[in-house]
Amino acid sequence: MDEFALIRRWFAPLAPHGDGVVLGIGDDCALLAPPPDEQLAITTDTLIAGRHFPLDTAPADIGWKSLAVSLSDLAAMGARPYGFTLALSLPQADENWLAGFAEGLRACAQTAGIALVGGDTTRGELSITITAFGTLPAGAALRRDAAQVGDCICVTGTLGDAALALRLLQSDGWPQTDAARALRARLDRPTPRNAAGLALRSIAHAAIDLSDGLFGDLGHVCDASGVGAELSIADLPASPAFTAGVPTDARLALQLAGGDDYELCICVPPARLDAARQACGALPLTVIGRIVQGEGVRLRNGGGAIVDFSTPSYRHFS
Ligand code: ADP
Ligand code: MG
Repeated sequence: MDEFALIRRWFAPLAPHGDGVVLGIGDDCALLAPPPDEQLAITTDTLIAGRHFPLDTAPADIGWKSLAVSLSDLAAMGARPYGFTLALSLPQADENWLAGFAEGLRACAQTAGIALVGGDTTRGELSITITAFGTLPAGAALRRDAAQVGDCICVTGTLGDAALALRLLQSDGWPQTDAARALRARLDRPTPRNAAGLALRSIAHAAIDLSDGLFGDLGHVCDASGVGAELSIADLPASPAFTAGVPTDARLALQLAGGDDYELCICVPPARLDAARQACGALPLTVIGRIVQGEGVRLRNGGGAIVDFSTPSYRHFS
């Protein structure tokens, strides 16, 4: 199967012509017609086998996650998902792999209601680059540089599940329990928080999605906004599977620096907390700290004492 047959068979079906897509896959460029007066939010992420997902990850999960991480970036800006491109490098045109990958990608695209509008296909080591586009009214984006002193720091969902799954995978003997499967699903099939991001756009001051670990990611918000943050580590939300699966002394590193959570961390003025909770619907929103004057992220335990924390978030080239 050559490159063009491969695109026709596996990827063209993900490209229904729809809202705002004038011309999708097949020409030299896609033609998009975003809503008048809206801005485009654009984000690119590359996933490399063995680095961004375990080598044994099912192709359908790779397809899902490749798009989910980009949708999470759109959620963090409060942008409405609009379309995406796929640059795929593959060692060979393995039909089983492609069928699974395309299915996972389709499933994730469907949840967001967006079309694949173009891409590039080459032979090489397995690597997947997705560029996702979102739209939003001018000036409405949730940015990292707009947190204000006094804001409540909140996170959606729970923290540490994916990091624990990765840790369990790397140790011998993956436990075959429902809890372990739930954790693995959090690693392989993260749920981007797009509905929450959209609804929080007019409520929160600032937001970031948690891809590299709360400690580092919130640190980016502090740097960009010129503020500090104090977190109450007793308030970090954890799933039952996480709490049952990790000894207390190992929890903090996974929840603060584990990465792959794909939850939203938002900074909201206290008067808008109720509105923020409502905006998240059934998705839990937990207050975990405050934006303060100064710089950097400080941690306090349940008794209010400062807790030392130095495990860095994941960084390439470090
Ligand atoms: P060109 O050589 O003009 O850049 P290509 O031969 O790379 O075009 O691609 C042909 C068409 O197929 C283009 O519209 C491109 O966007 C699309 N395409 C290529 N690879 C993919 C892919 N992996 N997913 C979706 N569309 C793709
Ligand atoms: Mg090309």
